[in-house]
Amino acid sequence: MDRQRLGHRRPREASRFPRVHVEIITIGDELLLGHTIDTNGAHLGRALAALGVAVTRRTVVSDDADAIADAVSTALGRADGVITTGGLGPTSDDRSKPAIAALFGRTMALHEPTVERLHARWAARGLPGELPAANRQQAMIPSGAAILENQHGTAPGIWIENDRGGWVAMLPGVPREMRGMLADALLPRLAVMVGNDPPVIRSRMLRLTGIPEARVADVLRDVSIPTPLALAYLPGWEGVDLRLTSSTLPAASADACLAAGSAVVRAALDEFVYADRDIDLADVVVAALRGRGWTIGVAESCTGGLLGARLTAMGGASDVVRGGVIAYHNEVKTSLLGVPEEVLAAHGAVSVEVAAAMATGARSRTGADVGVGITGIAGPAGATPGKPVGTVCIAIETPAGAVSEAGHFIGDRDEIRRRATQAALAQVLFAASRTSVDACT
Ligand code: ATP
Ligand code: MG
Repeated sequence: MDRQRLGHRRPREASRFPRVHVEIITIGDELLLGHTIDTNGAHLGRALAALGVAVTRRTVVSDDADAIADAVSTALGRADGVITTGGLGPTSDDRSKPAIAALFGRTMALHEPTVERLHARWAARGLPGELPAANRQQAMIPSGAAILENQHGTAPGIWIENDRGGWVAMLPGVPREMRGMLADALLPRLAVMVGNDPPVIRSRMLRLTGIPEARVADVLRDVSIPTPLALAYLPGWEGVDLRLTSSTLPAASADACLAAGSAVVRAALDEFVYADRDIDLADVVVAALRGRGWTIGVAESCTGGLLGARLTAMGGASDVVRGGVIAYHNEVKTSLLGVPEEVLAAHGAVSVEVAAAMATGARSRTGADVGVGITGIAGPAGATPGKPVGTVCIAIETPAGAVSEAGHFIGDRDEIRRRATQAALAQVLFAASRTSVDACT
């Protein structure tokens, strides 16, 4: 029955992907229950893409032998090979090996070199007594299977092939062991299968802020992205990340195509693009300020130091960041930033006037070139008529002038604070670049 199930291999559709197709199955009740995050799946995805192997599906299954056999059998019906993680250990909930051996119609046999290695390991660690029977269990492998050496733990990995060339590689669940075995034993095997100059999966990211996802989509409707590239929209509180991915070309052509695609997108949306790789807007802002020879000081109310934290997250920012004040209470806005009491009384703490006075105070009290003031209602309480939760006023004062604006941000308290911080950074970047443009003309 099992052999029959393994024999059903559906013909593959026209390929969008590199030549070796793999499915990943991560095994463990703890993954399904959400107690453990499936970092093994993510690591495998990245490592295989870098090698030019296409991961076409990821499945998470319980420690149940039938569930494991069923998932492996179904996956082998679609892909060239399957990589499993977990369930290789010496304990009663580790059922991957016998389940997959049964699926391949193999018996289990003791692998003597592994027994010897486990004995040696036991002795070398100075552990008392004999090797536990449970560890001997780890040396049982399906007949006809090959061992993937584990230099980082006890359980050996297994490589097993059927007569149609379909294969399953079983890796341990412990992430450190899994990563080690993947690098030492499995990736070299897969590299041989992939061959020379294979199609690789490569991506390039453009990071945008200050524009909603739907408007990005509108703009890009009229832009032709070079054909083999796939475009993904990744919206979040930081803005919209656009990821271009090449999955059918060899490395050199993929890079050229991604560069061309990125240039086309950039040309259409340049004013919103702050990075073409995975870096924080704050780091771009610090670099832009450094380029202008400007320093910055911040005054934060509702963001409570988030802006200062991000500006100082990268080492070496002290030539740019002068300091800041968390002015949460009105008295602190007055005493440490010099916000006039009359302005607070006339307009309320959440107002463009107070934000502007905070920016002025941040600039003068820290001796910086650029001052930022942020005041708003992050919620859940604090809304007043005309000022709903999410209202945040952001002011920037630079040697070239000042601007103070009210905005409205969506989300819960945490998200409103993060979105407001991001908007303030975007305004600083805009102010810094605009002045540099002015200086050139
Ligand atoms: P061992 O030899 O230690 O028993 P094993 O191969 O049997 O290893 P599991 O028992 O399934 O692996 O898992 C061992 C540990 O690794 C678990 O505590 C779990 O937290 C972690 N783990 C398992 N699978 C994953 C995964 N996909 N991502 C991240 N961690 C995982
Ligand atoms: Mg487990």
